[in-house]
Parts: sequence; C-alpha cells; structure tokens
Amino acid sequence: MNIKILSGSLSIGGNFIRIEDDDKIIIFDQGIRFDLMSKYYSGFITPRGVKELRDIGVIPKPDWYEGANAIYISHMHLDHLGALSNIPHEMKVKLPNMAIYEYMEEKWGISPNWLSLIPRKYYVELEELQPLQTDENNIMAIPISHSAYPAYAFIYFGKNETMLYTGDFRIESFLDEETFNEFNRGCNLFTFIEENRDIGIDTLIIEGTNIGSDRIPITPTEAIKIIEKLAKDRKQLLATLHSFDIEYAYALMLIAEKMKMQIVIASSPLVKLLEKIPNLQKPQVVDEYLDDLTSFKRIPIESIEEKSLILVSYREIVDLIKDLNLTGILSKDCLAIISEPEPQIEEGSEYNVIANWFSIMGVESYRIRASGHYYQYQLKTILEKIKPKKSIKIIHTEKPRLFLDILRKMSQISIE
Ligand SMILES: [Zn+2]
Ligand SMILES: [Zn+2]
Repeated sequence: MNIKILSGSLSIGGNFIRIEDDDKIIIFDQGIRFDLMSKYYSGFITPRGVKELRDIGVIPKPDWYEGANAIYISHMHLDHLGALSNIPHEMKVKLPNMAIYEYMEEKWGISPNWLSLIPRKYYVELEELQPLQTDENNIMAIPISHSAYPAYAFIYFGKNETMLYTGDFRIESFLDEETFNEFNRGCNLFTFIEENRDIGIDTLIIEGTNIGSDRIPITPTEAIKIIEKLAKDRKQLLATLHSFDIEYAYALMLIAEKMKMQIVIASSPLVKLLEKIPNLQKPQVVDEYLDDLTSFKRIPIESIEEKSLILVSYREIVDLIKDLNLTGILSKDCLAIISEPEPQIEEGSEYNVIANWFSIMGVESYRIRASGHYYQYQLKTILEKIKPKKSIKIIHTEKPRLFLDILRKMSQISIE
C-alpha cells in the first residue's frame, strides 16, 4: 500500500491523502489550505479562479486525482470538503450528509466570492456515507466527535494491510454515549476498536491540530459547566456557533431546557441540520432568519420571550444583534457566548469583529473554546487504544517536527 499525503502534513487543514493499493486508488479529503488563502487574499484581493488557486497550492492539483476510484470526505469543514468544482473528471464523492450539502450548495452557488467554487460540476457523482458498513472499496466510515456533525474516521481494509485515517476528532463529546450513538446511527471509533479487537490497525494517519498549543485545554464537559455558571439567573442568552456544530447546539439546548428558557434559532443551516436529529425537543425559529420550509414553529423576532436562548451562526450574528436592538428585544441582561471551536484557520471566521459588535451594543460577551480536536495530553491514551502496529503518519498540524518527536518518544514503530 502506497500512502501519499499530498497536502496537509505541514499545515492545519487542506488534507489530501491518496492511497494506491493494488488496482485501487482512493482519496481521503481534498480540503482548502486556508493558511495559504489568507496569505494571498484579503478583502478586495480575491482569487481569479480555480487555476490560480491550484497554482498557489490553495486547492489540489489536477493530477492528484488521476485514476481515483472515489473521494471520501471526513466532514464538511471546508479544509476537508474543499472546492468540488476543482475535481477534473468523472468521480464518485462520498459525503457525510447529503441534505446539508445540498442546502449549502445552493448558498455557495450564488455566493459573489470564491465560495461559488465549492459546488460540484455535473460529472461528479455524490453519495452519502453509511456509518459502520464496509463499502465496495473496502472502506468503513466510523463516527467520531468533532465540531462539525456528522464527522467520520475511515478504516481502509487494504490488500495486505489495514489503515486508519482519523480525520479531525476529539475524544470527549458534548453528547453522552447513548445520545451520540443515536445521532450518529452507531458507536464511536474507540468503542468500535475495542469491540473489534481482531481488526488490527497497521498504519495510522492521525491529526495533530492541538499539538504544541499552549491554550488551556477545555473539554466539552468543562465548557458546559462554565456556561451553566455564566448563564445562571440570566434572562437572555445569545450563543454563536458554527452551523455544523450540532453537538454544541444540543448541549446548549439542554441547558436552556433546564433553565426553562425559550429556545430560538436564527440560522437556516442550523435549522436544516437540527431537523435531521431524532427525538429533539423542538426549538422555535425566527421567521426573518429562515429562507426555507421547516417543521419547527416559526415566530417573528418580536415574539422572542424575555427568557430565551438564541442560537445563531457567526455569519448572521451581527445582523441579529442589530435587529434585536432595533425591535427592542435585546435584553439589558443579555449575555453572549462566542464559541471558538476551531483554530480560526479552519473556516476563516472573524471572532474579533463579532466581539467588537457586542461591545458597541453594550452586550456582555465571552469567548469560549472547547476544541473540536483532542489535546496533546490525550495523545498517549489515543495510541494505547488504537495500537497501530506498523507505522504512524501525521497530518493537520502546524508543528510537524514537534509532533514527530513526541510520537517517537511514545512508540517504537515507524513514524513519518
Ligand atoms: Zn480540519
Ligand atoms: Zn474540522
């Protein structure tokens, strides 16, 4: 088995893994390199098109795709999904969730900027990944917790060896095990490995976003404790989150339920994703922020109750606080929580700008970062669980040398 990490081994994001095994060629992820994107473009300096982005290395080169049987996307963050219009010829692409892709595809398609490059061309065939089933290419998608739902790790059962690619992941979820399994239609990677010890992993490709990060590690459980403390006796709670961060949205909704707050959503993509969740306590939706049909109850912004939790995406938060302010709904007691689940680089959100708007509106706000990625101190536990036998390869890291050093100290097998 020939494993080529063509992009993403020296950067956070932009993963592109090409596996050549006998007569099979498989690609895992084909993401955008936001580190390079932000180096060459900003504000009015915008990309001229696919060719320029390829030349600079922001998106994959056409020959990387040559002869591939299929592309597997681990989750929908753009540093993994990438620009589907870049795929140069007929290809099957397997996605974590078709409904959310199709919804986003429409938005991206009419975007005035580079986001319009994300939708596929007509010759790309899309298919939804099915958890815990081995497919025609001998690949199994296994649910994993990350700040984008749904997220998968992939096991490839090759001709002579078995490979595991983790994608982006953390080892603690915002959901308890039962809820996680229900949301993901199956158990997580670590439970799967434990229950299927006969499946030995030969080669492990593991992400290392938080390797070398000196940020204090906050796990989902700790984040919830902090938010509960801040939200106690508060009337209005405003939380911004990435629309794919369903685990976090669900955890916030549980807090609101406990505190008997009205739950209101002001974000179309978030509504689209929450609708897919079974047995959900149904939230209400702010009419002006929904451009689609929904089974949730719609209310005008004026009907938001005094005691409420409002969930909104980063893209829509600034408009929302302006609207809340104009309609007199913005409470003097409003507390805003900006979640910063990823290194900024993964999706290029501008947390500072958002914080400045809260400040000018007189809204008390805090930033919290419960990472979508495991922390360095958890690496040892992870290796003990996965037990790779032959080699470990690294990806999704800004500190490759440090990452390799740490791994060499922990393991006797080949590290590259
Ligand atoms: Zn990523
Ligand atoms: Zn991610």
